[in-house]
Amino acid sequence: MLAQCGGSGWTGSTSCVSGYFCSVLNDWYHQCLPGQATPTLPPPVQSSTSLPPTIPSSTTLAPLPQPSVNGTELIFGNLYTGCTVAGTIAITFDDGPFTWTSALIDSLNTAKVKATFFVVGRMYGCIYQYADVIKKAYDSGHQIASHTWSHANLSGANSGTINTEITRLETALKKILGIRPKWLRPPYGGTSASMLSNMRTLRYKVVTWNLDTEDWNNLSVQSSQAKFNALNNNRDPKIIPLAHDALQSTAQQLGPWIANWANQRGLKAVTLSECMGEPIPGGQYDIVGQPEPRDGTWTC
Ligand SMILES: [Zn+2]
Repeated sequence: MLAQCGGSGWTGSTSCVSGYFCSVLNDWYHQCLPGQATPTLPPPVQSSTSLPPTIPSSTTLAPLPQPSVNGTELIFGNLYTGCTVAGTIAITFDDGPFTWTSALIDSLNTAKVKATFFVVGRMYGCIYQYADVIKKAYDSGHQIASHTWSHANLSGANSGTINTEITRLETALKKILGIRPKWLRPPYGGTSASMLSNMRTLRYKVVTWNLDTEDWNNLSVQSSQAKFNALNNNRDPKIIPLAHDALQSTAQQLGPWIANWANQRGLKAVTLSECMGEPIPGGQYDIVGQPEPRDGTWTC
């Protein structure tokens, strides 16, 4: 059993015993691992003067998915945990966009699967630095949904905090994509009656997951894969796997593996709204405008 040594809300010891070092797995879980610290942590958020290389022009991307008028939109303020449409799987990635997200999108597109990205404004990176990555995901037909601005636990938050966490990310997605997302995954899976009430007011459907890869918990890629393989006798598990594109091993190994696993089992990997039988794109977004040109407000 490896000891926790920090993270959001952690009040215990932040040091490790001899021979171990404190590894920041993510902002809510730091764990004592054997050996010496190595510089593998995500780099800090950089200023907008050092933008990453831009993605090739969107003219080379696949066309937008064809809208479907079929389906019934689900209910704002309700909590959902699994798919309902037979033969579907909704692969989900949280905590991006980050360094690895763009290549993951390429892998998903090559596998001809759709996924859903629950994005944050500022965590590992700043959303405005990865605007082209989000645009690529959106233009490829993946669903973009909210994971709050700063990865806040909304379960005990007051309405003012919730409102700020939601609307600040909405502002970014309006600028970058011209949409307002209608789905939220609460950070830490944190829900409460008051939180769901706020989500109803703010017009969000709330989803957690029904298969946790535990990539966030430093589970090996092989151990995460075993969770899928354990579904052997359940040919239609209607799963919504939880994974994190902000983690390199997930973006480069586990994510593409899940896509191929779904394809090989004959499951259709679709966006969250599609696996819920919702109309596309009406169940996913409000269209609130056109993408805006980058200006001085695109900062975190
Ligand atoms: Zn998260």
